[in-house]
Amino acid sequence: MTDAYTGPIPKPTPETKPFWEAAKRRKLLIQRCGDCGQHYLYPRPLCPHCLSRNVTWVEASGRGRLHTFVINHRPPRSFPLAAPFIIGIVELEEGARLMTNIIGIEPDPGKVRCDMPVEVDFHEITAEITLPHFRPSAR
Ligand SMILES: [Zn+2]
Repeated sequence: MTDAYTGPIPKPTPETKPFWEAAKRRKLLIQRCGDCGQHYLYPRPLCPHCLSRNVTWVEASGRGRLHTFVINHRPPRSFPLAAPFIIGIVELEEGARLMTNIIGIEPDPGKVRCDMPVEVDFHEITAEITLPHFRPSAR
């Protein structure tokens, strides 16, 4: 990923608006269920674990581990992203998982590894949208 972002621009919905507004302030918000205590993403009004509507937004630590990844060598159609780049699923310390780009490491299968510690890094792409990406943790 370079600074000149040419990928798709997310369109906030009523369910995702708090997430995008927090990202603009460089904070990673996730949802937590008040009944079963689980954290989750993507944003939705029902807990995916117990179907409770008793859910709230909480700030995540921004730290986690790379659960799995793929190194994409083909730019997606209509978006001239510079390939190769890493698409990862990060499992946050809180247990929620999100799909993101992994930056700050060469997109080389010999260097990227599952379970590596990662931390959030924010990338402002428009005045309204800042994307949370993850990079190898300094720890
Ligand atoms: Zn629940």
